[in-house]
Amino acid sequence: MDAPATSKLRVATTSLAGCFGCHMSFLDIDERLFELLQHIEFDRSPLTDIKAVGECDIGLIEGGLCNAENVHVLREFRRHCKVLVAVGACAINGGLPAQRNPIPLSTILQEVYRTGPGLSNGGMIPDDPELPLPLNKVHPIHEVVKVDYFIPGCPPSSDAIWQVLTDLLAGREPALGHGLLHYD
Ligand code: SF4
Repeated sequence: MDAPATSKLRVATTSLAGCFGCHMSFLDIDERLFELLQHIEFDRSPLTDIKAVGECDIGLIEGGLCNAENVHVLREFRRHCKVLVAVGACAINGGLPAQRNPIPLSTILQEVYRTGPGLSNGGMIPDDPELPLPLNKVHPIHEVVKVDYFIPGCPPSSDAIWQVLTDLLAGREPALGHGLLHYD
């Protein structure tokens, strides 16, 4: 890896309205993870037990925005990360969760919790104040914060994620070459 020999860069990752498939693809870089760890250290991430994002060089965001908590976490990442990367279709355009967008939220909640097949009578729509408020629509993250780079795919391949990370670590403009840029 052509990376600077200075102190390690801090990298944070999170999953908003995503399925963790992009994180699994990240882990598919396999033994290159050990090489990566010579150049980075993880901040907040599903890979660590750090609960709040600190000052970071790179933030990787999986998933779009389906509730108020997602928006809060995204804004925290934008505030603390010098470079923000949207990883995968859900972060870039809402992805699969955005398929609910044509249906009114109230209709979805009624069907899921009260009227759908197999539900017993008397079901209630959860309204505990600790639950994050759902948004009317699922939004891509660039509609709320500035995003510096995008890695498309559902999920992007581990090689694509590796390419972008190693480019950033080396101070290069990330470029996905032939075979790494795909949208499925
Ligand atoms: Fe999962 Fe695909 Fe969304 Fe990534 S882009 S979080 S793999 S559904």
